[in-house]
Amino acid sequence: MNKFIFVSGGVCSSLGKGVAASALGALLEGRGLNVRMVKCDPYINIDAGTMNPYQHGEVYVTDDGAETDLDLGNYARFTNSPLSAANSITTGQIYHSVLEKERQGRYLGRCVQVIPHITDEIKRRILAALDVDADIVIVEIGGTVGDIESIPFLEAARQFIHEYGRGNALSVHLTLIPEVGEGELKTKPTQHSVKAMQEMGIQPDILICRAPNMLDDSMRLKIAMFTNVEKNAVFTSYNVDTTIYAIPLIFFEQQMDQVVLKKLGVESRHSDLQPWREMIAKFEARKSLVRIGIVGKYIELHDAYKSVYEALFHAGVEAGVEIELVKVDSSLLEADGAADATLNGISPSAAHVNVEKVDGVLVPGGFGQRGINGMVNAANWARRNKIPYFGICLGMQIMVIEWARNVLNLLDADSSEFNQDTKYPVVSLLEEQIDVKNYGGTMRLGASETVTREESNLFKAYQETHIWERHRHRYEFSNKYRETMLESGLLLTGFTSDNGLVECVEWPDHPWGLGVQFHPEFKSKPTAAAPLFRDFVMAARNCKH
Ligand code: GLN
Repeated sequence: MNKFIFVSGGVCSSLGKGVAASALGALLEGRGLNVRMVKCDPYINIDAGTMNPYQHGEVYVTDDGAETDLDLGNYARFTNSPLSAANSITTGQIYHSVLEKERQGRYLGRCVQVIPHITDEIKRRILAALDVDADIVIVEIGGTVGDIESIPFLEAARQFIHEYGRGNALSVHLTLIPEVGEGELKTKPTQHSVKAMQEMGIQPDILICRAPNMLDDSMRLKIAMFTNVEKNAVFTSYNVDTTIYAIPLIFFEQQMDQVVLKKLGVESRHSDLQPWREMIAKFEARKSLVRIGIVGKYIELHDAYKSVYEALFHAGVEAGVEIELVKVDSSLLEADGAADATLNGISPSAAHVNVEKVDGVLVPGGFGQRGINGMVNAANWARRNKIPYFGICLGMQIMVIEWARNVLNLLDADSSEFNQDTKYPVVSLLEEQIDVKNYGGTMRLGASETVTREESNLFKAYQETHIWERHRHRYEFSNKYRETMLESGLLLTGFTSDNGLVECVEWPDHPWGLGVQFHPEFKSKPTAAAPLFRDFVMAARNCKH
């Protein structure tokens, strides 16, 4: 069975198209189908790897080391779709391969055009995401109908629907129903948006209307009438004030999966959404509040640490606590005493107006020098005050720098990323990397194996001696300092399988102070929190006084 669902959006961006596509994927998986998720991004960059977090948010990394759009993170959290470079398609990649083929003479001297060459390449890439076990591919088309950039992708979708037939390929269109004046809901933007789709030659089969609350029957009838969509195929994605993970159940109550299966000619089958129901029950039963200070440089931007925030939320659900994120701009913790005052909640500071003590500190991944000393100060505060600390990638490197400066008294200790002239480069490039640096491509990307030391908090979390997690970094704990660090008491508890690189450090005599060189947040799910996030949040909950 090869069935395709194309999810497009209209009216405006940020309506939650990625979440809606993912929630539909979860529903279909609940029906026992193997779902594959694909994102088409209309930008001309080859991938998200070089994009500024300010503009684009987090870079989501897959096992095979692709640096992708953060929507793939939604797919990973809601579905079991395998995710690799094949699941993330950009205009840049499409043009890149078409131009390469053109240079190789593979178009036999023909004029290379958007139709058919670009659209053929899009279709080829979508089909490449299929594997033998796949039943349904959900293809999310980035952007909004009417954008110039989205046109080739929508045209490819139109051709797909035409070639495979409506019973095998569907168009799901997400639009906005705004509220004007006193609670009056307006359908006109939706009508226009569907018209724009029809002008592209696509008649949507299903509409998901983002609305402040559930649309009533008369509203659905009106939308159906004006858009040529059946009334029972007009759904509401209403604003949820609980959690986005309730959306699969909200769609289920409206029987979205039944309608989709019927339209795709898939026989109805039992639905099992038990893991989602259990997750929501645990979410509703959360008892206390735990404050986690996130000390980073892109603090004002929610999307920059998207997977980290989601993983903390998942961990909170599992630990039975609500997580309050206390976002602290690390560059404001650089002055003497600023970290103590802010994290202890003694005085409101420019870094954060909250005046409560944090129960745990998390330093997420990052690049570049800004705010580094503030992160070191935050780690120092957590270590001295025995407050749970979780360092991810850069956050682990910060632990190493802090230890070197304050325990080993190597005051100038640093990462050579931030200070090339430091006398003590405790975090540095590997010897073999130094020469190739100018050629780029030295980033350690994707999944690799870590061997955990038994009796460590790392092992306690995973209960495994061999784990696989994803990487995205260039610098490493410097092996020149392994002995000195060990002798001074720092615990080294995770290594690459050849023992060549340190993957995890832990503080001794501390309730839970741990840093890992990899990114466990990418594999966390609402129904199964990443083990290190779970244990960090539990430690913060248990240490709270
Ligand atoms: N900037 C650091 C490095 O390149 C850490 C990267 C990260 O946190 N993802 O090694």
